[in-house]
Amino acid sequence: MADYDIPPPEPKEIDEKNWLELQHFIERAVLRGHPSGEEKCGNCLYYLDTDSDLTYCWHPQLRILVGDEWWCQWWEAIPEG
Ligand code: SF4
Repeated sequence: MADYDIPPPEPKEIDEKNWLELQHFIERAVLRGHPSGEEKCGNCLYYLDTDSDLTYCWHPQLRILVGDEWWCQWWEAIPEG
């Protein structure tokens, strides 16, 4: 069996491409990884599964996975009832 070192994992071209695309979301949505006062993804209209701490945001400008403690400028209250 050949003696060689397994190279440490490192990001590939696809990861850099994905990161660049996600950075556009972050900038356009002013997406933050923490709440803004009382507003956070977990109590936003667009947060798909309010029982989960990580779920899909269905806002038409985003459509990505988000965490319940995150926040963006498109936050909207869930209507009563
Ligand atoms: S619209 Fe913004 S605040 Fe609302 S769930 Fe999506 S990322 Fe979070």
